[in-house]
Amino acid sequence: MIDVSKLTIESAHDHLIKGDFTAVELTQTYLDIIAKKNPEINAYREVFVDALEQAKQADIKIKSGKVGSVNLLTGIPFAMKDNILIEGRIAGASSKILENYKASYDATVTKKLKEAGAIFLGRTNMDEFAMGGSTENSAYGATRNPVDPTRVSGGSSGGSVAAVAMDGALAALGTDTGGSVRQPASFCGMVGLKPTYGAISRYGLIAMGSSLDQAGPITKTVADSEIIFNTIKGKDKYDSTSADSLFTGKEEKLKLTIGVPRHFMKEGIDVDVLKNFEETLKKLENAGHTIVDVSLPNIDYSLAVYYVLMPAEVSSNLARFDGIKYGAHADGKDLLEDYMLTRGQFLGKEVRRRIILGTYVLSTGYYDAYYGKARATQNLLKKDFIEAFKEVDVIVTPTSPTPSFKVGEKASDPLSMYLADIFTVTANLVGVPAISVPCGTANREGKDLPLGFQIMAPHFREDILFQLGKVVESVR
Ligand code: GLN
Repeated sequence: MIDVSKLTIESAHDHLIKGDFTAVELTQTYLDIIAKKNPEINAYREVFVDALEQAKQADIKIKSGKVGSVNLLTGIPFAMKDNILIEGRIAGASSKILENYKASYDATVTKKLKEAGAIFLGRTNMDEFAMGGSTENSAYGATRNPVDPTRVSGGSSGGSVAAVAMDGALAALGTDTGGSVRQPASFCGMVGLKPTYGAISRYGLIAMGSSLDQAGPITKTVADSEIIFNTIKGKDKYDSTSADSLFTGKEEKLKLTIGVPRHFMKEGIDVDVLKNFEETLKKLENAGHTIVDVSLPNIDYSLAVYYVLMPAEVSSNLARFDGIKYGAHADGKDLLEDYMLTRGQFLGKEVRRRIILGTYVLSTGYYDAYYGKARATQNLLKKDFIEAFKEVDVIVTPTSPTPSFKVGEKASDPLSMYLADIFTVTANLVGVPAISVPCGTANREGKDLPLGFQIMAPHFREDILFQLGKVVESVR
């Protein structure tokens, strides 16, 4: 058995090329670990029966040694979130309504990974339709945190993150609408990237909030995150909101000005999180970067804005799940009753709550008061960031106000769950890229729980996130 605990995409690639092990051996190692750990962790919804067959194909490419047929991701075993389409396979969004829904085409990110020769080990558990921050909203039970299985993995991409954290995949893809890649990454000690809105095609992702959604890589290192990002990014004719970056990454500034919105970190943050955050800043300062306070006058409204705009988009995106076009169907006496029975029976509580909230904020008489105001405030937030980025290269915060919490701790209190998104939703509202990088731990009941350091940069400046992210890794 290969020791995969220290393996990265970069090092695995070297071993594959040198012939130290084959993609089949590597895949078999991951399958063995999944068989052992998944019953407890519940990271995977399904392990694909043809994973070894995919690995054989990768080995053929690697052995052929043909220029252009092998790249850094050839033969690398991936976990895919249950809301990313892979042709011919079930994409269930961890919802009963899509339990047997088979994708009829590949998402663009899937297609790009396939072309690169990546191996899909399976699809991973998530909060139903990506709504949540702990995977407890999955119709199939919570994903446990591999660091402490009494705690949540975070969410909604908790299954993808836990898959990598338990050594059940070398990398994974998740989606992030308000923090769903970064927050679980921070809870499980992984690197999670939410790219610039438009940097990666959304074609073939099951939509939650279309103006906020982005797919993003989950990896053990920043360098691996960069490799995946470079493979899946770029303009796509199937997503009119996608675009190519104009930056080449060559304009690297060695010493960065790091902005801290301290006015936003006054209350509700765990003391250990705050202490670790300040220590990380100190280390970055010692590494030659400049730390300054930055003002984002409207950031206090971010969470409220998100929890108006997101449900509005959810209510319209999920209208298609009516029991007629896709997935499960319940029979009533007429069409309306079919709709009501299907959606009442096969959509979970949190999903229904958001559909109702969203329908309300869009309804006549309330649209101006809620949706309109939220949009106006979102524009103010965008202006805040434009102003701030005139003075600083990046803006940093903790990724989450607390370390991972216990399974069940917040499950019956949606508001306290929403508050956990306080630091992550703004990047989605403004469209800027953000990364969570592990930066230390907080001890709880004898377990060292991972913490994450979030870095945000101007639109399409993922290169700065990778640059500073690597520094955070090296000073940790
Ligand atoms: N936790 C956030 C929510 O519940 C983020 C979800 C996401 O990014 N998909 O909306």
